Amino acid sequence: MFGQRELKELEKATQIAEEVTTDHFALTDKEWAKSPFFVSTVGQSTPMVEVPDDCFAHLVYFGKDAEKKDHPVERCGYFKIFVNDPTILKWLKKRPGFGLLPLLTYVMTHELVHIARFLRFHCHPLERLKTGEEEIVTRVTHNILERVKMEGLIPILEYFQSSNRRCEYANI
Ligand SMILES: [Zn+2]
Repeated sequence: MFGQRELKELEKATQIAEEVTTDHFALTDKEWAKSPFFVSTVGQSTPMVEVPDDCFAHLVYFGKDAEKKDHPVERCGYFKIFVNDPTILKWLKKRPGFGLLPLLTYVMTHELVHIARFLRFHCHPLERLKTGEEEIVTRVTHNILERVKMEGLIPILEYFQSSNRRCEYANI
């Protein structure tokens, strides 16, 4: 699982992903606040949610819970992104040419595009397979990231251009 160094990279990737997604959708702080997101790794979290082995990350929406009056976040609904650190590390070990930061940036941007589309257009991430939402999110993520200058990012984008490869870890 991720150690201190990898967790720092995750923090950096999340920051970059948030910046580029906010820019692309012109989201305001107020809009993000409507459905805030939290990031946790499988290694760090108690098993409150089952994260499939074959995906890099798993997005879960915790809906509004009016009962939780004392917890504003839980009362309003929020997203949680579970980053599957053991799977990511295993994947990178088999492909030494790829970097952790670009891969995490790809994964986090994909998840934040799901959330942004939910905020903007009410495209629910859980209905992604039925509606072709997954394909749209993949395309938007690619368009956003191909303009970002980061060492090792283009090879990641090219690798996941192939839908077969994407399908192996498609549940992001
Ligand atoms: Zn997705």
